[in-house]
Amino acid sequence: LLFYKEAKTYDIKKDYDIGRVLGSGTFSTVKLATQKSDSRQVAVKIIDKTNLQVNTDSLRTEVKILKSVEDPNIVELIDIYEKDQKVYLVMELLTGGELFDRIVNKYPNGYNEEVAAELTKKIVLSVKYLHSRGIVHRDLKPENLLYASESNDSDIKITDFGLAKMADGDFLLKTACGTPNYVAPEVLLNEGYDASVDMWSIGVILYILLCGFPPFYSENTPELFDQIINGSYDFPSPYWDKVSLSARDLITKLLQIDPKKRFTPDQCLSHPWIKNLTTNKEIRT
Ligand code: ADP
Ligand code: MG
Repeated sequence: LLFYKEAKTYDIKKDYDIGRVLGSGTFSTVKLATQKSDSRQVAVKIIDKTNLQVNTDSLRTEVKILKSVEDPNIVELIDIYEKDQKVYLVMELLTGGELFDRIVNKYPNGYNEEVAAELTKKIVLSVKYLHSRGIVHRDLKPENLLYASESNDSDIKITDFGLAKMADGDFLLKTACGTPNYVAPEVLLNEGYDASVDMWSIGVILYILLCGFPPFYSENTPELFDQIINGSYDFPSPYWDKVSLSARDLITKLLQIDPKKRFTPDQCLSHPWIKNLTTNKEIRT
């Protein structure tokens, strides 16, 4: 057992009716499920341990992190089951789809700046919270940001802590990971890196939010790596003509090649673009 004492070890079907597939990842399938006792709908991430082979550490870390965090914009882990070769993570159901799909379908020309600023603020607040607890997500991208519901004012939730790491103090992470398009230069250069890699990813996400296409892009992987390592991107006309200079300024501060010069969550939150375009109702300490 991977989760001795933490997991329920009987058949999950005793407690839940398992329904259709909601999505899948490299090592998992996520299914809709209904709790028998109160008809509550949830999402169950099913991981087959035989597929993980020796790589059970990341699943342990994912569970440890999800269990330890409580934040309005981070997916909630409700329960864990483990039976035979399978681990079941019962999570709050998020029905609004991926941020990625909303960018593509609803806003083919990018989000308006108020909406984008509000969204960025929420993500940065949650990332600040994670970093303060020594957690680096390492795989922030629009596919891992899910809307709670289909409504326009739905909350966004950070999901998929499968690549996340707990780092303490000055400890530098060394494993290269994440999706190339969103990965910081120091990760590609194998230089060792810290929590600031998440801020780079937020810079990439914000860029995409405002124009609908990524800052670094090539079908050719070495070329893509080159673009990222050199921080070579621009704000091409006409797509960026209507976007404020303030928004571009924040992106520039996030897409800093030097992690020490890159904006921190606090610097990001006090940038005029965030301060002026968002309301203050969500004050967190
Ligand atoms: P992996 O770690 O294998 O990439 P994810 O956690 O990213 O798995 O989940 C895979 C997919 O399942 C997601 O892209 C999403 O479509 C769906 N999914 C994940 N969590 C939820 C959830 N809480 N509610 C609804 N759908 C989810
Ligand atoms: Mg995923």
